[in-house]
Amino acid sequence: MSNAILVVGGGFAGLTAAIEAAELGHEVYLVEKRPWLGGRVAQLTKYFPKLCPPSCGLEIQFQRIRKNPAIKCFTMAQLVGLSGKKGDYTARVRLNPRHTAPHNVDFSLLASTLEGTAPSEFELGLGCRKALYKSMPFAWPARWVLDPATLSRSDAARVAGNKYLDIGEEAREIELNVGAIIVATGWQPYDMRNLANLGAGGIPNCISNMQMERLASPFGPTGGVIRRPTDGKTPTSVAFVQCAGSRDQNHLGYCSYICCMATFKQCLYLTEQNPAVQITVFYIDLRAPGRYVNVLEKVQALPNVRFIKGKVAEAQAADGNVRLLAEDAIAGRKLDLEFELAVLATGMQPSLADGNLPLPIPLDMDGFVAGGEEAGIFTAGCARMPLDVSRSAQSGTAAALKAAQTVKGR
Ligand code: SF4
Repeated sequence: MSNAILVVGGGFAGLTAAIEAAELGHEVYLVEKRPWLGGRVAQLTKYFPKLCPPSCGLEIQFQRIRKNPAIKCFTMAQLVGLSGKKGDYTARVRLNPRHTAPHNVDFSLLASTLEGTAPSEFELGLGCRKALYKSMPFAWPARWVLDPATLSRSDAARVAGNKYLDIGEEAREIELNVGAIIVATGWQPYDMRNLANLGAGGIPNCISNMQMERLASPFGPTGGVIRRPTDGKTPTSVAFVQCAGSRDQNHLGYCSYICCMATFKQCLYLTEQNPAVQITVFYIDLRAPGRYVNVLEKVQALPNVRFIKGKVAEAQAADGNVRLLAEDAIAGRKLDLEFELAVLATGMQPSLADGNLPLPIPLDMDGFVAGGEEAGIFTAGCARMPLDVSRSAQSGTAAALKAAQTVKGR
């Protein structure tokens, strides 16, 4: 029997759950598939409720983890098997190779000499990375990653023999004995390639709301100046298409909860950079839960932002611009408008929708976790339902308390 707790997922909910469980006196194993902790929040420019940059909340969490020896973090790691029962599970975890030394070595000089590049996963296709990379300045663990597949022949010669790199490192598996498990596997942006009527992700200068976060980030591919991906132009007209793939039985049948707020926030990003930019928001409903109604009112008061109630039926490429065919449901007319940049407010899909986690827990028809507590498996954050960051953190605390009660006294 074990009083240790396994947390799967190192985003905001998982970090919170791990810290709370450790501070209650439990040994905690935190398993994250990406090279660094922080999840989706790390990719944002700012986040609600205070519109802080991600470093603000995450650096505090990272510090609490660093200072707590009861938390063992495994990054580039995946849960691949589970056996046993509540109170006495054996979790099999695969550790994928990072190919860099276990301590903090700064490879920035060596990385700058490398030629090979690959699309950056962190920049969501808007930028490239080298074979040796660290995607965010405040990344934790503060370790670089070497991707041997991206090395060119001359790059391979440059890194050969470096005593802090191990190109031959292989994946390995470890076993962890735990009494309870917290699933905090988070979400992924709904894939634009599924949205055939909105260009299936193939229209130049038609981007997703998460890509907009990267364009506005000071650490993003444009240094925080919002420019069109194709020609670097600062857009003078921008359209937001709400519910892109959400509230639609052919895609995500539910409201994704955060994408109206994301659009309001991005209207503010654009207006702060260029008060003259003309913004049009096509919406079905505007959802601003609780106190966030203040943000909606602030954006509605901006003279450069107009809201049109109506669905966008189609998006087309138009010589570098994006043409939108839409309805204005209030005026009762069809619209055919062109914009220099269009942003699809794509929704939140649970990461478990692909059914790839080897846990005995039921998922609902959308891939959200719908049970498991009787087996000592608790869920935090957007693995259970669409949530904003503060509610994700609260659910992390709740899951930690439930897991701690499950293994209490063992
Ligand atoms: Fe649509 Fe807004 Fe709900 Fe997102 S939050 S699915 S944009 S109504």
